[in-house]
Amino acid sequence: MILCANPSAQFSSYQSEIESAVISVMRGERYILGEEVEALEQEFASYIGASYAIGVANGTDAIELALRALDIKNGDEVITVSHTAVATVAAIEASGATPILVDVEQQFYTLEPLQLEEVYSSKTKAVIAVHLYGQSVNIEAIKYFCDKHSIFLIEDTSQAHGALYKDKRLGSIGDIGCFSCYPTKNLGAIGDAGLITTNNTDLASKIRMQREYGWKNRISEYTGRNSRLDEIQAAILRIKLKYLDSDNSKRTNLAKYYKEQLSELPIFLPEVRGDSNSVFHLFVVQSEKRDDLLNYFKKSGIQAGLHYSLPVHLQPAYKDRVKTAENMSKTESLVQKIISLPIYPELSLNDADKVVKVFKEFSSRNL
Ligand SMILES: *Cc1c(COP(=O)(O)O)cnc(C)c1O
Repeated sequence: MILCANPSAQFSSYQSEIESAVISVMRGERYILGEEVEALEQEFASYIGASYAIGVANGTDAIELALRALDIKNGDEVITVSHTAVATVAAIEASGATPILVDVEQQFYTLEPLQLEEVYSSKTKAVIAVHLYGQSVNIEAIKYFCDKHSIFLIEDTSQAHGALYKDKRLGSIGDIGCFSCYPTKNLGAIGDAGLITTNNTDLASKIRMQREYGWKNRISEYTGRNSRLDEIQAAILRIKLKYLDSDNSKRTNLAKYYKEQLSELPIFLPEVRGDSNSVFHLFVVQSEKRDDLLNYFKKSGIQAGLHYSLPVHLQPAYKDRVKTAENMSKTESLVQKIISLPIYPELSLNDADKVVKVFKEFSSRNL
C-alpha cells in the first residue's frame, strides 16, 4: 500500500537520533515545559524569523490562544476561509468569537481576499489567513485589508512550515503565526504539538502565561488553560526541524516529478503563486471523475486523500448556523473534484512512478 502521508517512514529516517533524544528526556527530570521546549522555541523562532515562539499542545489550541491573547472574545467576529481544516473554525468558536467564512480563489485554493469587504462589520476583529496545501495565501491583499481596518492578522501556517512569501517565512508576517505539528504535517511530532510565533513581546508573554492557567509565578494573572507542550515531543521536533528544509525539498522534487509526468492528462495540476514557493504539504489535483479515480487508486494499492471532502460551512455541526459570504460556489464545486496524491519526503521515486502509471492507466480507460 502506498500511503498518502507516512509519518512512520519519517521516524525510520531519523530513528537512532530520535530514540536517543527520547531516552534522554525520560532519564531527565522535567517532562513538560523544560529545556527541550525552551530550546525548540528559540530554534523555531530563529528559523521562522520571528522574535518569539511558544510551544503549545496542538494547532487548534495555537489558534485559540492567539485569539485570546488578542483579547478576541464573545461578540467579536473573525473572518477565515471555509476550505480549511475544521480546526481553524473550531478554534475561533473555542475563543468565544463568531467565525465568518469566505470562499477561495479558484487557482490556488486559498482565501479569496475580494470577499473580505463584503463580510466585514464593526464586530470584525481579525482575519485568519490559512496557508493551504503548502503555499501562501494572497498575504499582501489580506494584510492591506487588515491594516486598513486596524484589525489583527493571524496566519494559520499548519500546512506550510518553512514556506516563503518573498524572502519571509510564512508565520512571520502577521501579528501571530500558528502552527500544528500533528504527525503528518511538514514539521510533525510523534503525537500532538503546536507552536505560536510573534514579534510582539507583550503578546508572547501573555500567550506563555495563558498556556498554563494564566500563571505568572504560579498566580493567575489572566484566565488561562492548560495547553503545555511536553519535553518528548519538543525533543523530537528539534531533530525534525534540522531536516525541515531538506525534507521540504524532497516534497518539492516529488511535486515536480508528478507535474512533469501528469501534464498530458485532462486534470488541473497545482499552481504556485508568484512571489512565493510551496512546500507541498499536499499535492492536490482536480479530476472530473474524482470518485472513480479514488476507487481506482484504492484497488491498485494507492491511498489518495480528500482535503477536504466537505466545506466547513456544509458540515453538520456548522450548516445552517455559520455565517458565510454570499457566494461560496468555488469551494462547493471544487470539493467534488479534488484529490490528494501521496506525497511525503520518504516517498520513493519508484512509488511516485507507480502512482503516475496508475493515474495514466485510469485516464486511458476513461477517455
Ligand atoms: C492540522 C491543521 C490544524 C489543526 O491542528 P491540530 O494540531 O490537529 O489541532 C489547523 N489548521 C490547519 C490548516 C491544519 O491543517
